[in-house]
Amino acid sequence: MGAFFLPHKIKSMKLAEPITKTTNKMELDNNPLNINYDKLIMAGPCSVESEEQIMAIAKEIAKNKSVHVIRGGVWKPRTRPNTFEGHGRPAAQWLKKAGEAVGLPVATEVANAKHVYEALDAGIDILWLGARTVVNPFAVQEIADALEGKDVPVLVKNPINPDLELWIGAIERLHKAGLTRIMAIHRGFSQSGRSKYRNKPNWHIPIELKRRLPSIQVICDPSHIGGTRDLIQKISQSAIDLNFEGLMIETHMDPDNAMSDAKQQITPDRLIGVLSDLIHRESKDDTAGMDLDDMRESIDQIDNELIELLGQRMEVVKNIAQYKKANQVTIYQANRWDAIMAARLEAGNTKELSEKFINKLFQSIHNESIEKQSKIMNS
Ligand code: PEP
Ligand code: MN
Repeated sequence: MGAFFLPHKIKSMKLAEPITKTTNKMELDNNPLNINYDKLIMAGPCSVESEEQIMAIAKEIAKNKSVHVIRGGVWKPRTRPNTFEGHGRPAAQWLKKAGEAVGLPVATEVANAKHVYEALDAGIDILWLGARTVVNPFAVQEIADALEGKDVPVLVKNPINPDLELWIGAIERLHKAGLTRIMAIHRGFSQSGRSKYRNKPNWHIPIELKRRLPSIQVICDPSHIGGTRDLIQKISQSAIDLNFEGLMIETHMDPDNAMSDAKQQITPDRLIGVLSDLIHRESKDDTAGMDLDDMRESIDQIDNELIELLGQRMEVVKNIAQYKKANQVTIYQANRWDAIMAARLEAGNTKELSEKFINKLFQSIHNESIEKQSKIMNS
């Protein structure tokens, strides 16, 4: 009864999957949009609101020669019903017309097969999958199937939740459908609790994406990360410092009166300001160029994640305590603890964490667990 491990089981026990998986061999197009750029800049409104609106924005944006693609939402995934959900097919046509008028390719979000057909039918040049779609493998597969045999670039936003595998899975589904013109968009991750961000950047996740899929280009969407326009500059700078390949920035002639995401959109004038204030540093290696603030921010985020994980671990510990109480099992089981320590030391070793440190760390975690368990078992 209880969680005893026999010695032979300890020896054959498989360690948790190490984070350093072998590099995925997926080969993607190195110029997926057939555009020359130093940093790819996509700009345009959150939503295409009318033919006149998108034409006016496109004309204004196109004056800024550093913008390469006009974006515009045609089918809008809204959190609540009875909000503006996009004009659909006609808006796709207005978007294309505006792009043609200024000689720039246009991009929109597709969330199902019908959107794919209608967008391609309207001549939309670039498609993207939104954060709410990428969380759902069924939806992604439906889109991948609809795109089979089509030669169109597709940008994949990260899923709403911080799940790298889900993000990679969506990219793999498209790649399996024969697409190689694939890029990724980092738009931050939903979080519980208060934060200055609408969606937390969790920079280590897109960085890990690039490590896992070295041929993918990743651009950053500071608008959806920030949620308010005063954060756009700083987030954009962080993305450039972290060697992202570009930016997608929501731009609107009258942001305050936009039909969606009013707080985070900026005017075309402000866009020029943001782009021209960006500092492009020499990148010496992957992390060079990150300034002290960015590095501190990364540390803060990682520490918060550590605390979050420790909290989750304690929740499991509490469940174990309930189980032990119900089944009359003792709290401390030496065999189990020896096995844990052996496995953690080995895992720590692969990350160059000293034995002394891992020992201290897990002793301390273990003490907290035992205290929690004995409280429950004696309650
Ligand atoms: C958008 O780009 O307007 C959008 C809805 O983005 P996301 O999928 O990142 O929320
Ligand atoms: Mn938006």
